Amino acid sequence: MQGRPAGAAPPAIELRGISKAFGPVQANKDIHIRVEKGTIHGIIGENGAGKSTLMSILYGFYRADSGEILINGQRTDIPDSQAAIRAGIGMVFQHFKLVQNFSVLENVILGAEAGRLLKPSVSRARGLLKQLATDFGLNVDPDALIEDLSVGHQQRVEILKALYREADILILDEPTGVLTPSEADHLFRILRGLRDEGKTIILITHKLREIMEVTESVSVMRRGEMVATVRTAETGPPELAELMVGRKVLLRVNKRPATPGPVVLDVKGLRVVDSMGVERLRGIDLQVRAGEILGIAGVAGNGQSELLEALAGLRAGEGEATLAGQPLDMTGQTADGQTRRASGVAHVPEDRQRRGLVMDFFAWENTALGYHHDPAYNRGRFWMDNAAMIRTAQTYMTDFDVRPPNPALTAESFSGGNQQKLVLAREIERSPELLLVGQPTRGVDIGAIEFIHQRIIDLRDAGKAVLLVSVELDEIMALSDRIAVMFDGRIMGERLPEATDEGELGLMMAGMTGKGAA
Ligand code: ADP
Ligand code: MG
Repeated sequence: MQGRPAGAAPPAIELRGISKAFGPVQANKDIHIRVEKGTIHGIIGENGAGKSTLMSILYGFYRADSGEILINGQRTDIPDSQAAIRAGIGMVFQHFKLVQNFSVLENVILGAEAGRLLKPSVSRARGLLKQLATDFGLNVDPDALIEDLSVGHQQRVEILKALYREADILILDEPTGVLTPSEADHLFRILRGLRDEGKTIILITHKLREIMEVTESVSVMRRGEMVATVRTAETGPPELAELMVGRKVLLRVNKRPATPGPVVLDVKGLRVVDSMGVERLRGIDLQVRAGEILGIAGVAGNGQSELLEALAGLRAGEGEATLAGQPLDMTGQTADGQTRRASGVAHVPEDRQRRGLVMDFFAWENTALGYHHDPAYNRGRFWMDNAAMIRTAQTYMTDFDVRPPNPALTAESFSGGNQQKLVLAREIERSPELLLVGQPTRGVDIGAIEFIHQRIIDLRDAGKAVLLVSVELDEIMALSDRIAVMFDGRIMGERLPEATDEGELGLMMAGMTGKGAA
């Protein structure tokens, strides 16, 4: 083979000229990539760059429109996932495909043993699980039910499933999105162990730090194209970010130390019980001052959403809260999003598609949503001033670099990142006393992250209070002036960003009080 010393192993995977279109969208354009055997190879790119599509072609979920796949130097046709498994390819999905009320063992065997006697396979699987636990730290109780396992453990079961099917090539699509930092570290240890055993691993991520930490090589995708493949040791985050976005990107936010003023939000003993009777908030006390960003760290599902919703007047709770000394109704009796906004509380919800926008409304209607009682939008008693709303939308969209800046498009016609900018523009431009912001950059490309972070800091510097909820620890560390960690409906403790690290916060996020905890 060209350029390859005689006797050297062919790449575990080689893709030649892979293209795939979904209607008018060219998701993959003439992709060439070689992944060497026994390496961890990263694939990085912004949302929609085509990473998952490419891997789905490799795993037989989609058929390429053109191009060929070589596995260990052999041209291989992969029409379906059975063929992928036969070719030694295993995939760990973004959303696990495990049967919740089956045991670990049952899930590992499921589908792999069609037509065979179950008994031998059960003991074989049990033996293999034991082996893998000792070899790679892949320990999970074989008899535990999936529904009782943490996400980190469920992910291990997915890996075990692939290994049980004798996968030599393992594809992981954004595997750390759902993990705590220590679970992610553990996953990386497992991956390194597997690599050392000669397995080939493809790691898809949009996190530059993970690429730098665990891969040997990295391929960068942008808008359906493969723009570069480089050795990790010979590159760094600035270059990778530039390759991903197509321009230079500031990776760190510019932030002066905070100069906190008086307390804006004061919450005492906030409790929320959900409709199933589960206590989601178990007595939250917190304060946010003017000119300060309080970051709430935590793994998703530990009460952060309920906290934001209760404060935004969208969910009933009990307990006390004041805004600049004035009581806020937390019972849900007189509170709603509208009255909260009128009193100076803006809210960027975590789930912008469901809560933040009306998808089939125009952009200009969306940027007025919740603020349509504003005198600026009303002429006399009955007439809404559409022209004023459109003008305002135009300004917001220009200021927040919403693309395309056209107020007459419906919300659904914008990409996720641009939808987020619409919501942020609506909430931030009114310069609220308190901004409640959930997952401000979820699904947003790194170019836009830089911009959004700067706008949140600008609001703080204008003397406003910001309560930030994010599952991205990097984001919490970069923006917060103080960090509170939530676990199981409680605040585990507070830290100053300069006096803590990801390790300590990660422990607190897992319910363990870090060193020096109060
Ligand atoms: P990534 O994983 O890098 O975020 P994807 O491969 O998921 O990107 O998507 C690449 C492009 O293809 C996007 O524009 C996406 O909207 C589009 N796309 C992906 N899957 C489908 C599908 N099943 N139908 C239509 N369009 C799709
Ligand atoms: Mg994807």
